[in-house]
Amino acid sequence: MTYTIGTLSCAPGERAQGLIQVGVSTYGVELGIPLIVVNGAQDGPVLCVDAGVHGDEYDGQEAVRRVLAETDPATLRGTLVGIPCMNTPAFEAAARASGIDHLNLNRIFPGDADGSYSQRLAATFVEQVIPAVDALVDLHTGGAYGEIAPLVILQGGYEDLATDLALAAGHELVWKGGKWGGTVRHPALAAGKPAVTIEAGGGTYREETVTQHVRSVRNVMRHLGMIDGEAELLGTYTEVSGTFARSAAGGFFLAHAEPGEECKQGDLIARIVDHYGAPLEEVRAPQDGIVLWVRRIRTVRPGDEVVIFGAIEGEIRP
Ligand SMILES: [Zn+2]
Repeated sequence: MTYTIGTLSCAPGERAQGLIQVGVSTYGVELGIPLIVVNGAQDGPVLCVDAGVHGDEYDGQEAVRRVLAETDPATLRGTLVGIPCMNTPAFEAAARASGIDHLNLNRIFPGDADGSYSQRLAATFVEQVIPAVDALVDLHTGGAYGEIAPLVILQGGYEDLATDLALAAGHELVWKGGKWGGTVRHPALAAGKPAVTIEAGGGTYREETVTQHVRSVRNVMRHLGMIDGEAELLGTYTEVSGTFARSAAGGFFLAHAEPGEECKQGDLIARIVDHYGAPLEEVRAPQDGIVLWVRRIRTVRPGDEVVIFGAIEGEIRP
């Protein structure tokens, strides 16, 4: 069946690419959501894989392009929709947030069609992409500011809906629950469509992280029956919940733990020193658990996030 999303049409066994327009830049160029579509010769589900919701998270963007390029429409069952860079103004700014309105796109969904550019972008995604897909995988990294342990986020109040998809991501750590809203996952989940965020790497672009993301997407595709082979599942997964530690002091940041490292309550995770080396603050583990994210940018200002701790909540068996 011919697949349609936005203004793009793609016949079975074909590829297509194009932009869902959101606005026009000051220099007269169309701004919007770039799409790559591979429509399988055989029927099946529509999986959307997006990256670049945060503009300084590069590994997922390359992973989306790579998965789409390597997917053969002749053997694909269903349709793969890739959004290599959701937030192009943030990418242009080499920043987490949009260079136009400085909003964090991942906190403002479902957006507002009459709002600022990021609000319009979110609203366009909800109006034109969500109805055209059956499931969503959202790729992130720890950002330019930090590095995160490979994990999948299963959050948004519809955890049961997306559990199978989360386990197929293939990471041992499953971050479940948490009160924040407005992510790209939320409108998908609200529409009854499974959606997860996969996190890995950060700090800078690394081939290893691109490969990890590609592997996760492929495994999700196997889980959905879109490509041949059984989805590889782990014997057991660890459910964690994260808490953000912010520094009171500004200064130079020194880490004493790596993302993914286990920690005991009271362990020294990081220090902040002044320009002469004098200690200003120590960050210690609030409980036994796992260090999920560690700051990489050495500049730390008062109130900046420095570490995300993961408390172990239990075990998930597939
Ligand atoms: Zn992100």
